[in-house]
Amino acid sequence: MSVPDQHGPTVLSAIADLLREAREVTLLAHVRPDPDALGSALALGRALFLRGATVRVSFAIPDHTPESLRGLDPDNLVVPVSEVPASGPLLVCLDTPSPSRLGSLADRVEAARAAGGPVLVIDHHASNQFYGTHHLVDVAAEATAVLVLKVLDELGVPLDEPIARCLYAGLVTDTGGFRRATPATHHAAARLLEAGVDPDRLAREVVDDHPFAWLPMLSKVLGTARLEPEEAQGFGLVHATVTAADAATVRLEEVEGVVDVVRSTREAEVAAVFKEQAPGEWTVSLRAVGKLDVSVAARSLGGGGHRLASGCTVHGTIEEALTAVRTALATAPLL
Ligand code: MN
Repeated sequence: MSVPDQHGPTVLSAIADLLREAREVTLLAHVRPDPDALGSALALGRALFLRGATVRVSFAIPDHTPESLRGLDPDNLVVPVSEVPASGPLLVCLDTPSPSRLGSLADRVEAARAAGGPVLVIDHHASNQFYGTHHLVDVAAEATAVLVLKVLDELGVPLDEPIARCLYAGLVTDTGGFRRATPATHHAAARLLEAGVDPDRLAREVVDDHPFAWLPMLSKVLGTARLEPEEAQGFGLVHATVTAADAATVRLEEVEGVVDVVRSTREAEVAAVFKEQAPGEWTVSLRAVGKLDVSVAARSLGGGGHRLASGCTVHGTIEEALTAVRTALATAPLL
């Protein structure tokens, strides 16, 4: 089946046909899945599970479902990497712009393509590489969850509360708590609330609930924050560093949440948080307010993402990593 690589009615009906016929489906989210990646996979996974399909949801890192996202999986659809078959009849990759973002599960894409099996990619990243056989990629979509909702509508799946909860988790986080929203975003959110989502309880569980260890960790990390007004083409850069020792005191959720505090700095267009994964290896979260395209900066360092929120991995000492990021930001396009 040949399908044009764009979002539209033809694609949606072809994608619905593919999913309607599926008896066994593996859904993959990117490494260190956020609520949009895992919520999208679990929403579509539950819909297919309720239709009688055998469903597995997985991601490569970490080796367990992040605690804040466990409430999204009442059917226990998440399985460890070791239980993802080498090749299956249908692979669906969600919120994942390139196979490399699947970590050790990237080989499942290669195997599926080699076997001639369908690989469906549902994503909203501008950096999407169209690595599947079927693509629902819409960079204008505020979350992958919105695209999954379109697919569920096309399939005629009624929204129950667990499905709606998964989609709402993706929507509320990828829009920055509805800061980046259109009227259509709120229409989608209204449908999810009508399906029974408790927005206060869900947001608390997914975003606002931290162990006390978060506070001393945050205190230490924020002590490393530096403001460099002349960087990022004179728009200002603020950065902070999370060492492996800092990260060891908390969950992944707390580490990933640091950038949301740092990015509120008024004097900086760009916020960067350097997270030590191994000696000399840093994953970097980049956020911009609205003047610089940080996805291009991240891509120049081998990463990717969105114009205002992206990430990459850099190697070297913290000073070398900082220099690499400063250099990438110096040529990032203006928005
Ligand atoms: Mn997303």
